[in-house]
Amino acid sequence: MIQKIEHIGIAVKDIKKATKTYTKLFNQSPYKTEAVESENVITTFFKTGENKIELLEATSEESAIYKFIEKKGEGIHHIAFDVDDIYAEMERLSKEGFIVLNEQPKKGADNKLVCFLHPKSVNGVLIELCQEIK
Ligand code: ZN
Repeated sequence: MIQKIEHIGIAVKDIKKATKTYTKLFNQSPYKTEAVESENVITTFFKTGENKIELLEATSEESAIYKFIEKKGEGIHHIAFDVDDIYAEMERLSKEGFIVLNEQPKKGADNKLVCFLHPKSVNGVLIELCQEIK
């Protein structure tokens, strides 16, 4: 089942600068910074009450974040939802006609298995499904 919003991902050009901005905004430091090599990104996570915000900077021109910023500039990149069974959701959504971008879930940031749904099939919004690795 798709559950609460796990986090919102924001594409940034310079994660150090953006981290300073968001540290001021939230009046607290991020709880985690992590490189995700499979995605060619560096990520930083903030927690605000129940919510999490993920900042993402591309580490190479191959990165989806690099391409996103080239096309659209900085801004909201994806919305991530918690799921209790990522394999079941991928199968269900694929049957429903959504474009699931991964054949298998992959290891994402913040100790999660993740997969993405193409924005074309979700009204222009990139959706991430994530399940905590236990
Ligand atoms: Zn994310």
